[in-house]
Amino acid sequence: METLYFSPMLLGLNLMLASAVACTALWYFSRPYRGPGLWMAGAWTLILGILLFMGFMASGSPVLNVLGNATQLAGEAILLLGVFRFLDLRPPYWTVPASAGAMAVVNCWYWYSPINTELMVAIYAAIGGALPLQACHVLLTERREPALRSVRLFVGVTLLGYALVTLMRAAIGVHDWLRSVEHADVTRSVSYLLPYNFGIPLWVVALVGLALMTMRRILQDSQRHAQEAEASAHRFERLMGVANAGMVVVEEGCIRDANPMLEQLFAQRREALLGQPLARLVGESEAPLLADLLQRADGRPHDIEARRGDGSGFPAELAIASLDDSPQRLVEIRDVSHRKALERQLLHLATTDPLTGALNRRAFEERAEQELQRARRQSSPMCLALLDLDHFKQINDRYGHQAGDEVLRKFSELCLLQARRTDLFARYGGEEFIYLLPDTSAESARHLLERLRLALNNLEIAGPEGPIRVSVSIGLASVGASDNLHRLQGEADAALYRAKQQGRNRIEVAL
Ligand code: GH3
Ligand code: MG
Ligand code: MG
Repeated sequence: METLYFSPMLLGLNLMLASAVACTALWYFSRPYRGPGLWMAGAWTLILGILLFMGFMASGSPVLNVLGNATQLAGEAILLLGVFRFLDLRPPYWTVPASAGAMAVVNCWYWYSPINTELMVAIYAAIGGALPLQACHVLLTERREPALRSVRLFVGVTLLGYALVTLMRAAIGVHDWLRSVEHADVTRSVSYLLPYNFGIPLWVVALVGLALMTMRRILQDSQRHAQEAEASAHRFERLMGVANAGMVVVEEGCIRDANPMLEQLFAQRREALLGQPLARLVGESEAPLLADLLQRADGRPHDIEARRGDGSGFPAELAIASLDDSPQRLVEIRDVSHRKALERQLLHLATTDPLTGALNRRAFEERAEQELQRARRQSSPMCLALLDLDHFKQINDRYGHQAGDEVLRKFSELCLLQARRTDLFARYGGEEFIYLLPDTSAESARHLLERLRLALNNLEIAGPEGPIRVSVSIGLASVGASDNLHRLQGEADAALYRAKQQGRNRIEVAL
């Protein structure tokens, strides 16, 4: 009888042990998925409960009996919590203390004032059978993740089968209690044979179902990730293809990938570019800047001189960003020749006088200030001259405004021709011009301006009624104690006034 009694119990223990080992492996290999951790914890708690119960069978200790039964139900409840966790639902944690506590109370009562054993068994089975019903309900009614629907149904139905078998065991227990039957030889009781023949196998199948459910989710997720990665790679490829800029993937300073625009920009085939150092795309003097930008990879645009395969250069804008946390860099290169030309054009428009092509007053004052500071630092001589055409109003009145314009243009041409590379010449006002002569003494400046004055005297400007002759009065000031642009201009202006006063067509030097 002893052998008959223990063999299904040991078989049951071994099956549950195998399930616990399988649950542990499932948890380990499916990390960080939620659910398998609780299945593992529940399965091992169940094993502990069974061992405690077997201890009671061997010793007859009521404490082991109470602990064994309560721990087994707690294990079952913990395992079922994992289903909720897997489905991302809030697990009903209360079921663990409720089931274990209720069983412990009933079991203690049984030992305190003995009741029919079949009723005890019925109560244990009723709690154990009711526990999976909640999990069955969510497994069968969950609507999210349609791909897992069939495996959810499989686990739900299996758990339902387990619950029904266990509840049937409870019903038989109640029936026996009502008939005051108490089985001395438990192997003769159907209520004992049900769990071993149907309950445990269904439980094992349910655990296999849980493993399948986890694997199905892992498969679904990896398929989705693969599709996303493919779509993202495709998007990246298309982006590289349609980008208006040259795009380069760089690793360890060498070109790993390049888009069609880069081929176009550098007039080189992609195959020839791959594997080349990125530094080949820029001028030699730009190499340190490029190395610094690759290091920083801050995505900010920088102007750089790019170099084509044939050695010709072009102004480029280059931005380097890091690709996620990888050592690769994404380099964006744009040809900014057009922008640079536009900038030059804008700078020209902003700094020159449209009629004469001389510097305008604002640009002159900006640069003159810098020259003045330099002259001050180096204690070098410098002169400033104000030039005003004589009786210009009369030219306008006599020959017309257009002829007046022509005179202004020709006068400017002459002045620019006379000027040295370092001199600044600007249109100061209507028919007033200004000269800044760096590194020039008052004496040299006077000679230079005298030459200009005489050249103007000899200049014949074509007018509507024959050649127009024009003269200029000049006020000259040299940098001295009053080395401030404003005061210098004032001094030159006063000298100019004197030149006008003293009969025009002459040079007067500031006193
Ligand atoms: P002075 O010898 O005393 O300098 O006599 P002026 O006639 O040259 O001097 P005034 O200041 O009386 O006249 C300057 C004239 O220059 C008046 C203005 O119509 C003319 N003017 C100013 N800007 C332009 C311009 O862009 N084009 C033309 N055609 N004339 C201009
Ligand atoms: Mg004037
Ligand atoms: Mg004048």
